[in-house]
Amino acid sequence: MSLERHGFQAEVSRLLQIVAHSLYSDKSVFLRELISNASDACDKLRYLALTQPELLEGGGELAVTLSVDKGGKTLTIADNGIGMNKDDLISHLGTIARSGSAKFVEELESAKSAEAKVSLIGQFGVGFYSAFMVADKVTVLSRKAGETQGWRWISDGTGEFTIETAEKPQRGTEITLHLKKGEEEWLEAARLEHIIAKHSEHVALPIHLKDGAEEKHVNQKAALWTKSKSEITEEQYRDFYRHIAHAWDEPWATIHYKAEGKIDYTALLFIPSQRPMDLFNPDRKQSLKLYAKRVFITDQSDEILPGWLRFVRGLVDSEDLQLNISREMLQASPLLAKIRAALVKRVLSELGKRANDEDKTSYESFWGHFGAVLKEGLYEDPASRDEILKLARFRSTGSDGWVSLADYAARMKEGQKAIYYIAGDQLDALARSAQIEGFKAKGIEVLLLTDPIDEFWIPAVEKFGEAEFRSVTRAGADLSEVKSEQKTDDSKKPVAENLDALISFLKVTYKDAVKDVRVSERLTDSACCLVADSGDMDMHLERLLRQHKR
Ligand code: ADP
Ligand code: MG
Repeated sequence: MSLERHGFQAEVSRLLQIVAHSLYSDKSVFLRELISNASDACDKLRYLALTQPELLEGGGELAVTLSVDKGGKTLTIADNGIGMNKDDLISHLGTIARSGSAKFVEELESAKSAEAKVSLIGQFGVGFYSAFMVADKVTVLSRKAGETQGWRWISDGTGEFTIETAEKPQRGTEITLHLKKGEEEWLEAARLEHIIAKHSEHVALPIHLKDGAEEKHVNQKAALWTKSKSEITEEQYRDFYRHIAHAWDEPWATIHYKAEGKIDYTALLFIPSQRPMDLFNPDRKQSLKLYAKRVFITDQSDEILPGWLRFVRGLVDSEDLQLNISREMLQASPLLAKIRAALVKRVLSELGKRANDEDKTSYESFWGHFGAVLKEGLYEDPASRDEILKLARFRSTGSDGWVSLADYAARMKEGQKAIYYIAGDQLDALARSAQIEGFKAKGIEVLLLTDPIDEFWIPAVEKFGEAEFRSVTRAGADLSEVKSEQKTDDSKKPVAENLDALISFLKVTYKDAVKDVRVSERLTDSACCLVADSGDMDMHLERLLRQHKR
């Protein structure tokens, strides 16, 4: 085949511009990304070979090999993993497949610091393009396992790439970086070894380093999670977290344990300290990786953790799972259901511990990032409901900070039977709204709920202890049963006859717009406010649903 020219997807071109010109902070990122791709490629092959062992023929031990050519000023990262054919090269190395990529590139263009950019890149996982941080030309030579034809992909990272057929005696991928002027440090074996030790030592695959005739095995082979806790330093945990989660922050929590007995498995879970940008993206990748006896099975399974814990990163390695289990079979696996239940319990108990820390700020920052996700569990998972209600924190009229439901309950007034809340989009607007004036005047605390999810879990949960949740925008929110702290000033009370006339007038005037007009105790300063009738939908919910229909 002759040479074919292809243009990069527009987002990729813009991304390459940024990558090539403005990421000065830590260029070693590219090495970590390319090694992690090589390792993914070997994992994929190993998994396919469980059912198609012939794919492994003629390949030797799965490994990554880095070789430097000082004369030619190139660094090559080679693997004998799954490889890519022509279609793979075009779609994987020419586009950003994931939805939201346009938004991602926009955020990237507006990110101020180099760290912020690198962090965005890490989160989105557009790792391959980081090669252009250090190279002004990249050649990818690849042959897919089970196929005979090899392919060469070449680009200088400015808008186009070419593809042609090529000789490649063995399966796998070879990525050659033609280093830019000034990037010669990537030809120094010692420098490369240092970076690998720092970022890739836990890659569960041998990494070889070739410098001229010299060849060296540079990483440890034991998977980190198989070691015991006491053998692992905090720094190793952090580096592993960054590797597996494609993240740059510190883990906020690290949960590492071995379960033995009825089911044998090891879990190494992390909760990030920063909120990943795609947390609310409906088709974001699952965050947990599943292994069976150290063999990577999938990171696409919703069965390992429920969606409301999708911020948890890390892995689960099971001794009992069938190695050749198909992804479809996973869904029906009772074993996995048990592991899932155990993981949920473990995560919730860790959160419970952290919620009781003397220093509240750390837990509150966790809640600020992930509380809205955790609250999805209130209606999706009745079994975890009580636990989550204890973990939940809210804004309220009773405090400037976060309050728990237990805090609220302890402050309830004599005669108060319900937990009052108001839901809306903006905290300050809610705090100023006319509907809560009467509550404020009586010293009754009102929860200010601003997450869209709040409208969905409240009807499902109904109660905390004996107290039911009740919206202040409903007419049923009755204040007369609660003892007032302030003396009411009788001189301000409206004269009843005048009121009747006014109400009749309003009812007639607004007969098509409102169901009823009533005298209310809930107002102190404002003249009137809109509320929903007790049996009707909460006003904010109605508005949300109307927006969704459009
Ligand atoms: P990600 O790894 O997050 O998918 P990358 O930009 O790092 O994003 O890689 C894009 C895709 O290119 C990968 O998903 C994979 O399909 C393909 N790819 C990259 N490197 C290799 C490799 N060494 N072997 C096989 N496929 C690869
Ligand atoms: Mg990658």
